[in-house]
Amino acid sequence: MKIDILIKNGLILEFGKKPTINSIAIYNGKILEIGKELEHKYNAKQITDATDKIVIPGFVNTHSHVAMSYFKGLADDLPLQEWLSKHIWPVEGKFLSAEFVEDAALHGCAEMIKNGITTFSDMYFFGDQTAKSAERIGIRAIIGEGVLDLPVANYKNADEIFSYIRKMHDKYMKSELLDFAVAPHAIYTCGKENLIKAKNLAFELGILLHIHISETKQEVEGCIKKTGLRPVEYLDSIGFFEGDVVVAHAIWLDENEQKILAENNVSIAINTSSNLKLASGITSFKSYMEHGINLSIGTDGVAANNNLSFLQEISLIAKLQKALNDDPTILPAKEIIQIATIGGAKALNKSDWIGSIEVGKKADIILIDINNIEAQPMYDPYSHLVYSLTSEQIKDVIINGKMVMKDRQLINIDEKELIEKAKYYQKKIIEFNSNK
Ligand SMILES: [Zn+2]
Repeated sequence: MKIDILIKNGLILEFGKKPTINSIAIYNGKILEIGKELEHKYNAKQITDATDKIVIPGFVNTHSHVAMSYFKGLADDLPLQEWLSKHIWPVEGKFLSAEFVEDAALHGCAEMIKNGITTFSDMYFFGDQTAKSAERIGIRAIIGEGVLDLPVANYKNADEIFSYIRKMHDKYMKSELLDFAVAPHAIYTCGKENLIKAKNLAFELGILLHIHISETKQEVEGCIKKTGLRPVEYLDSIGFFEGDVVVAHAIWLDENEQKILAENNVSIAINTSSNLKLASGITSFKSYMEHGINLSIGTDGVAANNNLSFLQEISLIAKLQKALNDDPTILPAKEIIQIATIGGAKALNKSDWIGSIEVGKKADIILIDINNIEAQPMYDPYSHLVYSLTSEQIKDVIINGKMVMKDRQLINIDEKELIEKAKYYQKKIIEFNSNK
């Protein structure tokens, strides 16, 4: 039988099994078989030698703003409000256009693949352009179109955004890689009416709702002042959690709010680098886990983070949570890797398809080189993933059964072109800032 790709002799981290040297047959976008000596059984169009490589499911990034990639390092070391109002919003106001988003999203998607991310859930504007770039480079994405009460770059009001989401949902219905989502920005930028409309639309179309919640103390205080309720209680009071919801940040939750999220199967996207860098706060997730809330990991935008290294994010979360709890046994390596993969897939309602290496699932797989000084010796691949390896060691990335990066070179895109484009926009942004 003819197949598309054969991954040969890799150390495969198959779901629910002990890491074992095996081969994977990939056909028609999916994992057809995992076993030994598959090269005798199948005639593969492409064979990838995975000797001395760890083979794991691709990372699922549940909170990003991919088209902010040209704002990486534009302004740092500032409080959130000053950073936004003096630096990010002015350049967004000047530059945001369909063309800019398409270019910036392409750069961001490329950066994600280089960091082993095979699926991302985004929140931004001009989703059609982000979708085009994701499709071109071959990455799986859930494109959350941002909703605010105020006019945004592409729309005058929220109702226009809602009809745009309907249109995009229809347009990409048949895409194997893309879904759309409704992404009300936050409770302080969306009034009750638009939050309810957003929820109703997501519920009607059966798509995801994606919102920032409880990122800062001020947000919580503001909500209590306005509504008498804490943010999660407020959203619950308007029926927001009726559908499938991912909340980003969720740093400042009390006991009752954790119960509400658990009861409503709401997943959290943890964004530790962004939260630390903007000093939004840190929290222990121990109690969240005890309540049974599904956790996943987001990178947030590169303007805040300022990188998309998922391995770095994983390592940081694992170590921070140990320190916060005064307990080195919390979040062992295997558990945090599961949060980064199947936890993300569950959050996005895609755990039947992605998030683990299992026969029948989509082939979203990354190969990591361990034949180097930094990776040797290796006693436990999970330990290495969390504490020793970096993105540079991620060599090959397969998404939906197609190779999108081989030996760290992107297949579907000219990397030189991306770098030139980034330099071109950097020049324009510097010019704009110096004339302000
Ligand atoms: Zn965000």
